[in-house]
Amino acid sequence: MPPTSRKKRRRPSAADARRRPKVCQFCKDKTDYIDYKDVAVLRKFMSDRGKIRARRVTGACPKHQREMAIAIKNAREMALLPYIAQRGQ
Ligand SMILES: [Zn+2]
Repeated sequence: MPPTSRKKRRRPSAADARRRPKVCQFCKDKTDYIDYKDVAVLRKFMSDRGKIRARRVTGACPKHQREMAIAIKNAREMALLPYIAQRGQ
C-alpha cells in the first residue's frame, strides 16, 4: 500500500492515558516463567468469555504475551480454565 494511506493516526486522549499504564505486569513482577497452574493470574488476562486478551489490552510485552498465551492454553488442556465461557452464571 502507498505510505500516505496510513497517515491518519488517532491522537491519544487524556482518557486513554488514565486507563492503564503500559507496562508489562510480568516484567514488573520479574516473572521469568508463567505457571499454567497459576489460574488466578491467567484469568486476569482472559475476557469474561474465556478468550485470551490482546496485547494492546493486557499491556504485556511480546515475550510475556506469548508465554502467557501458551500458559493459558496449557491450563485449558489441564481443565483448569475453560475453552469457552459457561452459560448463565
Ligand atoms: Zn514482559
